[in-house]
Amino acid sequence: MRLTLQDRLFVLTGAGISAESGLATFRGSGGLWNGYRVEEVATPEAWEADPELVWRFYSMRRRDALAAQPNAAHLALARIEDKLGDRFYLCTQNVDDLHERAGSRRIHHMHGTLFQSRCVRCNKPFPDQSFYETLDLPTCKTCASPIRPHIVWFGEIPLNMDAIYRELDRATTLLVVGTSGSVYPAAGFVDIANRRGIRTIYIGPEEPLNTHAFDDIILSLATQALPSMIELVP
Ligand SMILES: [Zn+2]
Repeated sequence: MRLTLQDRLFVLTGAGISAESGLATFRGSGGLWNGYRVEEVATPEAWEADPELVWRFYSMRRRDALAAQPNAAHLALARIEDKLGDRFYLCTQNVDDLHERAGSRRIHHMHGTLFQSRCVRCNKPFPDQSFYETLDLPTCKTCASPIRPHIVWFGEIPLNMDAIYRELDRATTLLVVGTSGSVYPAAGFVDIANRRGIRTIYIGPEEPLNTHAFDDIILSLATQALPSMIELVP
């Protein structure tokens, strides 16, 4: 599988690429945290009912992400971006910062980021690497409202979908890495790509649910498949 310097590449990454750096996906079998399913701690309802529980969950995820390192797949995507420049766009479902630490710059976190928080009223995200694991939860210095993780929870709308669709609309290749194809709206990107007739590539160790929708399926770990795609054909 070759990419060329003429490609305008839209990359979508999901939990699989972070899992290859050892970060838990909290999905499927065995994906529990302290006996909770992620759907029970990553919702507006969970936040209303028990913000301390929610903050303990995201504090733990901050701790885990800080301890993890970008892997060969993250680094390969940053190298491809170096070559394609503005013809590269990375949309990630992941909330960790491993892409940034690998060197990616043209990146959009559609589900928010672990290392930002925001006031529930002022709504302005700010950098935050703190752990909130006691009843002493953070409040806004301006309006005293609670501070929440800058994360798109289940039932909330992903960030900046307009920009995502604009980029998807002008891409020549959609590369999907490490996401099961089960979570909309991202799962629908490949349908949009197919309607436009552009090339669609999937990389992951397991077949995605929407496997029929892709032109090319590379059943492999991203850390194995992506480094071989760095050499772009002129
Ligand atoms: Zn505020």
